[in-house]
Amino acid sequence: MKTPAEFRAEAHKMADRIADYFEQVELYPVKSLVKPGEIASQLPDFPPDRPVQMDDIMEDFEKIILPGITHWQSPNFFAFFPANSSYPSVLAEMLTATLGQQGMIWETSPAAAELEQRVMEWLKNMCGLPAEWSGVIQDTASASTLAALLTAREKATGFKVNAEGFDRDWKLRIYCSSETHSSIEKAARIAGIGRKNLVKIAVDHNFAMKPAALRDAVEQDLRDGYKPTCVVATIGTTSSTAVDPIDEIGKICREYNIWFHVDAAFAGSALVLPEKRHFAEGLDQADSFVFNPHKWMFTNFDCSAYFVNDPDMLIRTFEILPEYLKTRTRGQVNDYRDWGVALGRRFRALKLWFVIRNFGVDGIREKIRKHLDLAQWLAGEINQSQEFELLAPVPFSLVCFRFCPRHIHDESMLDNINEKLLLQLNASGQIYITHTRLNGKYTLRMVTAQTNVEHRHIEKAWRLINETAAELMKSG
Ligand SMILES: *Cc1c(COP(=O)(O)O)cnc(C)c1O
Repeated sequence: MKTPAEFRAEAHKMADRIADYFEQVELYPVKSLVKPGEIASQLPDFPPDRPVQMDDIMEDFEKIILPGITHWQSPNFFAFFPANSSYPSVLAEMLTATLGQQGMIWETSPAAAELEQRVMEWLKNMCGLPAEWSGVIQDTASASTLAALLTAREKATGFKVNAEGFDRDWKLRIYCSSETHSSIEKAARIAGIGRKNLVKIAVDHNFAMKPAALRDAVEQDLRDGYKPTCVVATIGTTSSTAVDPIDEIGKICREYNIWFHVDAAFAGSALVLPEKRHFAEGLDQADSFVFNPHKWMFTNFDCSAYFVNDPDMLIRTFEILPEYLKTRTRGQVNDYRDWGVALGRRFRALKLWFVIRNFGVDGIREKIRKHLDLAQWLAGEINQSQEFELLAPVPFSLVCFRFCPRHIHDESMLDNINEKLLLQLNASGQIYITHTRLNGKYTLRMVTAQTNVEHRHIEKAWRLINETAAELMKSG
């Protein structure tokens, strides 16, 4: 492919293929059924020396690659949390790839920098976040949380670790609940704070952090000469979408002058709904906050919205200024390379802009409300069923449950049955769900938040779960 004319012809074909894919996505097994190594074994050991025609590449894509694809954009995808896409998002990504922007500083792409600033203000407004916050798009919540921990570390040490490294024992401590996402531990390790200084606070019967236990841990650490540096609270934990008591935790952080980071990677999108904002009460006390439009706001991976109360702290933590990056516009505009780990930055704001405008805020609200209703419907069915039970409250669009036939009381037997049930459901290719453990119990997780999921998909999945469970009992 060398000429614009050749590209045009191929691009038209590709647009048709993409539309076909969306039309037919329900026909594929949701979870890829290939075995480990099956894809690699079909790929040659060495790259081709001679050009390969697009038709041949696409033929291999269909034959070799597609069977190894797990269809995250299928409305029968109920696993993990979704990585949602949508039509406007896909179209924006085409443009993003075409323009190939590298938005490290304002000068390298003024529109990328200024659009990013504006769409982050839009998100803040849409979600009712504090007006004084500043936002930046990161690739993932993991990177956002790492930025939070690094900034907290520098604030606690007076920017000494950045300057001198760990030449003394700062005895920094980070706090989160036992239900917190693994990215917090990863960030604590990378930031040089260490896993042993990540204090896991106990949770209550709804899997939310106990603020009294947090206070006890902080006070004990102060007595022992540690420096409480950061508390990470979650709105919507990964296992069960539990919500930590933000207001109470925020007050403790203010009292002891501890950085307060709030991780709402999945559930943060629900804050577009005024009726869900009570979960974020007290959020104005946070120093930093992250949620992922790439999970539940129809903007394809990757797009993580990171907000900070004091951008100067963030910039002081990450700023670096070699001669070749000095510009005359410094200080007048946002140079986002100073707002996170990477220097080079993708033009992620474009897809968010397309999505917010093409859905409209009302359109986004309507979809998220529908997903919440679908979860309530499923939770209602489970509650009415004699054979299934809910294992956690359903504040958002994740339903945690298990199969528990009345005559079986042995916990390890129930674990086994539910694991078998999960494997059979996923092997059917019809749906994809995942699991967790809650109070030690093997728990099925079903998320009703895929962009195009409708009531009929949930109904069909629920029927399949019942039928598969019944068969499992018959076959012993
Ligand atoms: C998914 C998730 C993360 C990690 O998100 P990435 O963007 O993949 O890094 C962090 N925290 C919570 C609560 C999550 O659900």
